[in-house]
Amino acid sequence: MEGLNPFAGGGGDSDQLRAFEDDMLHWTLHRGQDGRRAFAMPLAYSTADADVRELDGLTMAEYATRQGWSSPHLCWMIDQACKDDYGGLAGDISAWAGIHYFACRYYDRRLRDEYPTDTLTWPGGNQFLVDGLARELTSEEQWLQTAVVGLSAEGAAVEALCIHAPTGERLRVRAGSVVYAGKLHTAPHVVSGLPTAQRQAMAQLTYVPWIVAAVRLSEELADVGLAWDNVLMDSPSVGYISGRHQSPQTLQHGGEVLVYYLPLVGDPAMARKQLLVDDPQPWANRVMADLTRVHPQLPDLVEGIDICRWGHGMVRPSPGVIWGPQAALRRQPFGSITFASSDAGGLPLFEEALFAGIAAAEHCLHELDMPYTTSLHGMP
Ligand SMILES: Cc1cc2nc3c(=O)[nH]c(=O)nc-3n(C[C@H](O)[C@H](O)[C@H](O)COP(=O)(O)OP(=O)(O)OC[C@H]3O[C@@H](n4cnc5c(N)ncnc54)[C@H](O)[C@@H]3O)c2cc1C
Repeated sequence: MEGLNPFAGGGGDSDQLRAFEDDMLHWTLHRGQDGRRAFAMPLAYSTADADVRELDGLTMAEYATRQGWSSPHLCWMIDQACKDDYGGLAGDISAWAGIHYFACRYYDRRLRDEYPTDTLTWPGGNQFLVDGLARELTSEEQWLQTAVVGLSAEGAAVEALCIHAPTGERLRVRAGSVVYAGKLHTAPHVVSGLPTAQRQAMAQLTYVPWIVAAVRLSEELADVGLAWDNVLMDSPSVGYISGRHQSPQTLQHGGEVLVYYLPLVGDPAMARKQLLVDDPQPWANRVMADLTRVHPQLPDLVEGIDICRWGHGMVRPSPGVIWGPQAALRRQPFGSITFASSDAGGLPLFEEALFAGIAAAEHCLHELDMPYTTSLHGMP
């Protein structure tokens, strides 16, 4: 079935779907008293109106209940959105974030002609972008497999202690200004002297572990209807994509790669412990069991499964993370260190990471009194 519409196969509760779509359309078009969109991307461009921001104080499930939405089909659709983009169910995710998923882009079919939208994707994922960024750097400028393990103020400068993981070699670097773009939960362990309130604001973030499994097949799956992105309604995963849909040339043989995404939405700390267990076989079995339900021929075609464990895959926008009192503290620069990454805003989205990186870089240029032309026009 094409599109992500659980009602397409029938279901007596489509009135609720219409009510939901109308509500999301309302939020898509709504502008606050400051003239800003209710739910913009990057989120920093969203209205500051209290009646919109206070939606961050409740969960998406509470919002749905308030609206009278109880249809299992609709609840599934909202859960799927929260799980896919935010690694939680509607009961875990801020209503502001949940509505943002549907209202920041012009998804509604009634707006398609006026606001056409596209999904950007390419073979190689974010590595394509990393390669592009690294193209201008010399090999001396590229410090791969090197972690920053300490940042401390040294007068007006910052000293970074780095460790080259394969050799254990230690490097010390002095910088006039630093953009900290690692996940924020690591900052209190790395940045010396971070004020207690800011440490706590960062420590309160919840990170969702993910499993990503690339299932390599000897032959193309002959199933009619295999889309680029495939979602199973009764699956713990958020679905799987077909590598072939992106570029057949990337495959050396006539095979297929299915990439399966499983957010561990339960207790994240417990799930991380499970992920630390070395044996990947149980995870491979889970992936296979799920996929074989819809592709019974799969076990005969599998050449191998590559499993990647993401202990802190993405920050979860729980209620209060985006506009609550801790949010401003989390984003506050500390001396010459400015915090970026999508965690700064609280929505685990590429656009937010990009925005936070640019904002942090511009802050550094400003602090260093260096000329620059802003890329962030019309910032509140
Ligand atoms: C399975 C999965 C699928 C996703 N799919 C999408 C998607 O389709 N679209 C989307 O918009 N978002 C997606 N996301 C969310 C994604 O995490 C963000 O969009 C984006 O990658 C966030 O960028 P970032 O810069 O905030 O963090 P990251 O991409 O996590 O970058 C942080 C970087 O910091 C480095 N680092 C950390 N600590 C140190 C240290 N001490 N020293 C040196 N370097 C360090 C890490 O190695 C990493 O490269 C997905 C996330 C997961 C887990």
